[in-house]
Amino acid sequence: MNDFREKGGPRRVGQVKEITSLANPVIKDIKLLAQKRHRDESGSFLAEGLKLVIDALDLGWTIRTLVYSKAGKGKPLVEKTAARTVAAGGLVLEVSDKVMSSMTRRDNPQMVAGVFEQRWSPLGNVRPQKTETWVALDRVRDPGNLGTIIRTADASGASGVILVGECTDPFSMETVRATMGSVFALPLVRTSAEDFLRWKKGSGAKIVATHLAGAVDYRTIDYREKPVVLLMGNEQSGLPEELAREADALARIPQAGRADSLNLAVATGVMLFEARRHILSLDGKN
Ligand code: SAM
Repeated sequence: MNDFREKGGPRRVGQVKEITSLANPVIKDIKLLAQKRHRDESGSFLAEGLKLVIDALDLGWTIRTLVYSKAGKGKPLVEKTAARTVAAGGLVLEVSDKVMSSMTRRDNPQMVAGVFEQRWSPLGNVRPQKTETWVALDRVRDPGNLGTIIRTADASGASGVILVGECTDPFSMETVRATMGSVFALPLVRTSAEDFLRWKKGSGAKIVATHLAGAVDYRTIDYREKPVVLLMGNEQSGLPEELAREADALARIPQAGRADSLNLAVATGVMLFEARRHILSLDGKN
């Protein structure tokens, strides 16, 4: 058994539990986080990778459990992260490779994983400022698309992602993986279409909705006069009429070739980087 004590931190000694059995109840609980019902009930989720766990701690996310495999034992960064977990009141587990594989459902799992508390931002707290760009996703269904969009929104300098209606869970393992850590970097909001439209009225934001039948070329829109919310439609059915008609602009990304539409995450990336390009030129940064 190891003891971890963070240098200069609270004088609290944490003990590492060694677990090799798949039947261990703590491991069973972590495995259940693969199911949305259990993530919702526990308000937690699993994120894999040492860098990701360190970034999350740096950003102030609450860790409940740190898990590392034998390969991590004695590694200074892993030990430091274990000490931080203990200082934050979390549990530290050293597990066999077999347990790590089964927990993360991977043949070649990462050396480290963390169970974190979910964090949602209330829509009422979102008051976009003039140079901000937000993304709103109508009923996004594909976990890979959502993860890619969160990662792209982070990389483009967007301020956050609003999930409108019944969306796939941003805290599922697949989505968290696809975000490559950006799930910790941006506020996530969930709301209904009705509340989104109500919020829009008082927000001062310009809603730029994207639509295959959009009347405006996305490159000709003014993204600088007001804060912008880029509203993207569902993968199968696109934007419903009740959302499209409330938009301040219906933007189209002109396409060549035979494809009838772009993938949702690609379309969001194109829109985000165009909107941010306008804002950066406003700041004199390019
Ligand atoms: N069959 C759907 C439809 O008719 O809208 C296709 C949806 S598309 C895969 C998913 C979303 O990506 C769209 O609702 C829109 O927000 C965006 N999108 C994809 N290609 C686009 C384009 N060329 N112009 C504007 N938005 C686009």
